[in-house]
Parts: sequence; C-alpha cells; structure tokens
Amino acid sequence: MKVTYIEHSGFLVETEDACFLFDYYKGELPWMEPEKDIVVFVSHKHGDHFNSEIFRLLEEYPHVKYILSHEVPVKWFIAQEAEKGRDVEPYLCKVRKKQDYEFSLYNGKTLKVHTLKSTDLGVAYLLDYEGETIYHAGDLNLWLWAGETKQANENMKKAFYTSMEELRGKDIHVAFVPLDPRQEGDAFGGMEAYLELTNTKIVFPMHCWGQYNIIREFLKAHPYYGDVIQMIEREGQEFIV
Ligand SMILES: [Zn+2]
Repeated sequence: MKVTYIEHSGFLVETEDACFLFDYYKGELPWMEPEKDIVVFVSHKHGDHFNSEIFRLLEEYPHVKYILSHEVPVKWFIAQEAEKGRDVEPYLCKVRKKQDYEFSLYNGKTLKVHTLKSTDLGVAYLLDYEGETIYHAGDLNLWLWAGETKQANENMKKAFYTSMEELRGKDIHVAFVPLDPRQEGDAFGGMEAYLELTNTKIVFPMHCWGQYNIIREFLKAHPYYGDVIQMIEREGQEFIV
C-alpha cells in the first residue's frame, strides 16, 4: 500500500485497485488513477477535518463514494446539484458511531467499515479491505488538558478507554493516530494507549499542526516503537507500507 501524507489528519491510502482519502481539509490532493475506486472519509465536520472541496472529486473521477459522519453538512450540496439536474445522494453514505457497514465498490469488492465513538465529534474508522485493516482515529484521542478541571479530565479518560476497548488486541496494518503538541505534557497519552492496546504494524502520527518535531520527541521517549511510528517531515511525503 502507498500512503501519502497531505496535511494535518489528511492522508491518502492507495491499494492496487482502490484509494481511501481521509479527513482532507487543505493541501495538494495527490493524483489518483481514474480507474480505481475512490472512497472519501470524513470523521467529523470540524474545519480541520472537512472541506467541501472533496465533492469536486465527483466531477473529476468516475468511481467516487463518500463516507461521512452523520453531522457533516451535505443538504446544501444535494440541493445545489439537484438544481443542475444531478442526483448525488447515491454517492453519499452517512454513518453513525459504533456501527458496522459494508460497501460494494465499483470494482466489485466489498469494503467493511466499523465506526467508533470519538471523544470529540463524530467517529473513528476501522476499515477491512481485502484482509487489510486500516484505522483512522479522526479526533478520537485522550484529550487531557492542563487547564481543565479534574472531573473533566476524568470523564475524558473514561470516554477514551471505553472507545479504545473496541481495538484491544486488534491486528492493524496501518493506523493514523493523533499526536497533538497543544496538549504539552499530556500529548503522548493517547498514542501510548493506542500502541499498548493494539497490535499495529505501522502508525502515522497526525493532528500535529505542522509541528512534526513532536514525532521525534515521542520516538526519543519510546525508542522501541522506532519501526512502528513513521516520521512525517513534510506535506506530500509518500510511504510504502
Ligand atoms: Zn481536529
């Protein structure tokens, strides 16, 4: 599989016959082979995870499908396209937390998607495609903040570990997991828990706000994850995994 880092939590995962685009909000979209299925995922509607530009892919590529957390606004898009005489609803699939879905792709294969409850808004995605397991956390993270009340941080821990239980012991090939420098002293907690709970081969830290040095700092503190954690250094960087 080829993974291209776009920006922030935006990644493109390419297999032999399908492209999975996650949480695009800005940056240059990599070129994709038009004969491949393109499945576009949006974990939630926040501005750093969703940009309506993604809907333009429908004009450029023949085999596009959108998997969107239920709160992502699309009514305006459906109405706008209806005015032009085009029904886009069949391309849009809205999903809810803690559900299992099966999508038939244009290539005849099945994509299985499980959704987890985020600790922010929306969902995290666990994909099973042709025996490959891919996880994109969205904003599911251990959002502890020094300025928060003890109670709020306790509630966060409870919510986070409840969601993470679903991933315990799971074999995952590629995962995208938040590592947010704004959390300062608490920034590593979510990633540490993810790595301990799951059996993941390759992990891409995300939601770094362009401060990739935090990945180096994480690796310095956890050198034994050196083969797992991928060092992102720039937008557009490609990885073969
Ligand atoms: Zn975010």
